[in-house]
Amino acid sequence: MLDADLKAQLSQYLEMMEGDVLLKVSAGTDKVSKDMLSLIDELATLSSKIKVENTELERTPSFSVNRMDEDTGIVFAGVPLGEEFTSLVLALLQVSGRAPKVDQNVIDQIKNLEGDYHFETYVSLSCHNCPVVVQALNVMSVLNPNISHTMIDGAVFKEEAESKDVMGVPTIYLNGEVFGNGRMSVEEILAKLGNAPDASEFENKDPFDVLVVGGGPAGASAAIYAARKGVRTGIIAERFGGQIMDTLGIENFISVKHTEGPKLAASLEEHVKEYDVDIMNLQRAKRLEKKALFEVELENGAVLKSKTVILSTGARWRNVGVPGEKEFKNKGVAYCPHCDGPIFEGKHVAVIGGGNSGIEAAIDLAGIVKHVTVIEFMPELKADEVLQESLYKLPNVTVIKNAQTKEITGTDKVNGITYIDRATEEEHHIELEGVFVQIGLVPNTEWLEGTVERNRFGEIIIDKNGATSLPGVFAAGDCADTAYKQIIISMGSGATAALGAFDHLIRN
Ligand code: FAD
Repeated sequence: MLDADLKAQLSQYLEMMEGDVLLKVSAGTDKVSKDMLSLIDELATLSSKIKVENTELERTPSFSVNRMDEDTGIVFAGVPLGEEFTSLVLALLQVSGRAPKVDQNVIDQIKNLEGDYHFETYVSLSCHNCPVVVQALNVMSVLNPNISHTMIDGAVFKEEAESKDVMGVPTIYLNGEVFGNGRMSVEEILAKLGNAPDASEFENKDPFDVLVVGGGPAGASAAIYAARKGVRTGIIAERFGGQIMDTLGIENFISVKHTEGPKLAASLEEHVKEYDVDIMNLQRAKRLEKKALFEVELENGAVLKSKTVILSTGARWRNVGVPGEKEFKNKGVAYCPHCDGPIFEGKHVAVIGGGNSGIEAAIDLAGIVKHVTVIEFMPELKADEVLQESLYKLPNVTVIKNAQTKEITGTDKVNGITYIDRATEEEHHIELEGVFVQIGLVPNTEWLEGTVERNRFGEIIIDKNGATSLPGVFAAGDCADTAYKQIIISMGSGATAALGAFDHLIRN
């Protein structure tokens, strides 16, 4: 089941277990049960601290991870390999007594949660966002006896997932009701459960010298550069890490041959924390105004003051904006092929968009689904030649060019797509089960209407020092009119904006 390398790695990790752990196993005679049993056998062989007992759980095959004298509520339904393997290792370590790596105030919030919380998360083993949720909810289950969590592999419990119309992973249920979709950290889950800090926690903050709005590569870089100048620096981020949290392999971050987005985001946060930077994560800015100082108002009503502001709010997926897109989001309309591709195994899907991301998505999906139809608005695909060559070699891909998507149809979930042939103006309908929208990004700058000048794409116009049209306000990264949108470019422009802001401070 596990190759030699993985076994060697695993036994090193298992040596870190502090106490005994009891795995209660519910197995049948099917193939997945056999795979699960052989994984559990290997675990028990690698560590004498792992004990195994047969039982009957709500789902078969599944197993729970418990202390010897107390059930934790952590259950893995299916075989947690692939992206979930780390979730299994962490669950074993944490249940054995190793402290989870979360801040003390988060631990306190989890321990203080009152009421019963039974979470269930549908995952796919190739989804890189799923382990974040699984690990967060497992930590919560370890720390609070009123919280339990079951990871459910949607490919193993296909009928169950289909009966609940789960068409995107991770999909999280709380006490039988949908709680959320997509990647969520412990802090985000706690905020959703009503533990978000309110305005009072920000009321008494002294004004900042540099206040960065946005916690992606640009914002992190700006905060580090500003803090290194010894000025009072704060950073507000709706979701620290930004787009790289949704990025799998990164191979063009110079000097690092290969990394993964969430890993890079964790390093960014660690680097920012090396300095005296006030990090205000999970906070969204909604207003910027120039008074005696700049004022940035947060969604929770708090107002932060600063002598200079650096805007680094990045960008988000562009919506196609047709009927059905919003209605069927997570019910067949998806934006992340890596995450949601496996759910459409053996089905017919469309990819809207013939640029690099659309064609990469189509190639990726063609290996999983039955058929992919690419719908491109322009008469030609815009993707790089090399990607087009790979695409056209695939037997299960159809490319429709010069086509305007009119509607994504469905009843309770997607059942088709309607497009207009722009040459003949004829309308066509294709029956299919999934639509992946891949038509680029849109800058997160709507909230700045009437403050700083933006171009027709909504990007903030900046000069060579990162300065915007409003003196004292700077911008960097994907939200600005920089020529290209890349991690290294965002970091560079974040540094420029911070140096520009510092220069502004010393001159004013
Ligand atoms: P973002 O990463 O978008 O970060 C914006 C930040 O602002 C986030 O923290 C967000 O939560 C926050 N924010 C937004 N609005 C508000 C608000 N109102 N208040 C508070 N905070 C707010 N680039 C590469 O170099 N190599 C790659 O391999 C690569 N692959 C990619 C793959 C994918 C799927 C995607 C989507 C992008 C990829 N990119 C890649 C591009 C790269 O991720 C971006 O260029 C980079 O992340 C931009 O950084 P940023 O800090 O400007 O913005």
